[in-house]
Amino acid sequence: MDIVLFGIQGSGKGTLSKIIAEKYGFVIFETGSELRKLSSEDTELARKVKSIVESGKLVPNEIVMDIIENFMHHLPNGKAVLFDGIPRKMEQAETFDALMERNGRKFTGILINVPESTALRRLTTRRLCENCKTVYPADYTKDNCEKCGGKLVTRSDDNPESIKTRIAAFNEETMPVIEKYKKENLMVTMNGDQPIDTAAKEILEVVAKILS
Ligand SMILES: [Zn+2]
Repeated sequence: MDIVLFGIQGSGKGTLSKIIAEKYGFVIFETGSELRKLSSEDTELARKVKSIVESGKLVPNEIVMDIIENFMHHLPNGKAVLFDGIPRKMEQAETFDALMERNGRKFTGILINVPESTALRRLTTRRLCENCKTVYPADYTKDNCEKCGGKLVTRSDDNPESIKTRIAAFNEETMPVIEKYKKENLMVTMNGDQPIDTAAKEILEVVAKILS
C-alpha cells in the first residue's frame, strides 16, 4: 500500500513524511528532489527534463508522470512509496490514478489538516541555515546551525503574501483532488495543528491502521 500525503505548506508534511518513511520503510517520491536527481543522469528522460528546467518553464504533467513511471521501474522489490505533494491538481489526479492502476499499485491519501493561521505562523517564524540550508522551526532559539554553525536567516520566499498565494492555490487546485479521494473512500484526515512530536505519534498510528 502506497501513501499519498497532502498538506499545505507549514502543515509539517515534509517532516512527517520523513518520520513515516523511516518507521515503515517507504521510499519518498517528491517531484522537486526527483528533478534534481534526474539532472545528474544521462538518459533520454533526464535530457528532456533538463531542457525544460533550463528554459524556466514548468514541467508539464505528462513529463511528471513519466518521472513517476521511471521511479516505479527503479523501485526496489516490495517497497511502498510515499508520494509527497502529488497529485497537485485534478488533471494530474486522473493521470496519476491511471498510472497507479497500470502499475498494479493501491494507495491511501492522508490529509494533514492545519488552519491557515498556524501555517502562516510556522512559516513566517522559521529560519534556515545560510550555509547548509537546514530549516529550523520557530522554537529553535539559537542563532547558529547545529549541524555546521552557519548563520540562521529568515527565508526570503516565506513572506506572508507569497505563503497566502500558495495556500489559495492549494485550496483551489488540490482540495478538489482530496474531495474526490474522500468520495472514493481513499482519504484519511489527521490533525496537524499540534506539536510535531504529537502529530508524528498520531500520523504513525494512522499509517499503522492503513497498513493493517
Ligand atoms: Zn548549517
